[in-house]
Amino acid sequence: MRVVLLGPPGAGKGTQARRIAERLGVPAISTGEMFRAHVREQTGLGREVQPYLDAGELVPDELTLAILRHRLVQPDATTGFVLDGFPRTVPQAVALDGFLHETGRTLDCAVELLVAEEELVRRLARRRQVGDIAGGRREDDHPETNRHRLAVYREQTAPLSGYYDGQRRLVRVDATGAVEEVTERVMAALQAVPSHRSA
Ligand code: AMP
Repeated sequence: MRVVLLGPPGAGKGTQARRIAERLGVPAISTGEMFRAHVREQTGLGREVQPYLDAGELVPDELTLAILRHRLVQPDATTGFVLDGFPRTVPQAVALDGFLHETGRTLDCAVELLVAEEELVRRLARRRQVGDIAGGRREDDHPETNRHRLAVYREQTAPLSGYYDGQRRLVRVDATGAVEEVTERVMAALQAVPSHRSA
């Protein structure tokens, strides 16, 4: 199954992506984690993207699409994937559709994780202090960066719900409450998706 997870920073996308991917038996793919790995290893790409990550700005589409395409052609991603943090813009979503189409595939579902604004601010503050559940503290978790990421989300990423809704691929899931409960809600929503639009 091919799934993208949408939702603001702090909605629990990373944690849920890993849990859902495990249940579906497909890889969880995070463009943010791939970028952070390059930054840690100080590769050429890492040096190029670091200023964007530090500022909470989006990395240019050209670099983001290149790293994603490269990952999606790995053998483990042929049967499906859960994308976390990609797409972030409508042009990225269009590029993903085009890329899947070229290889005879389509997206099954876009799951939007819904969390109230005050809860997001609380979660981001907590993540900064103690690290998130599985990922540990992130190098790019600073109050200023987080505030900016929320603004970027509202401006550039939130329009994706309309894009996927227009394709009848969007499902919205309440992402408040225990991690396990949210996973169950997402799994229930995925089971209701007219299954496997593509092989
Ligand atoms: P994340 O781990 O998804 O919160 O991503 C961390 C950072 O990586 C973001 O603040 C962006 O700077 C960059 N990033 C991750 N995914 C994308 C994407 N799809 N498009 C542009 N930048 C991205």
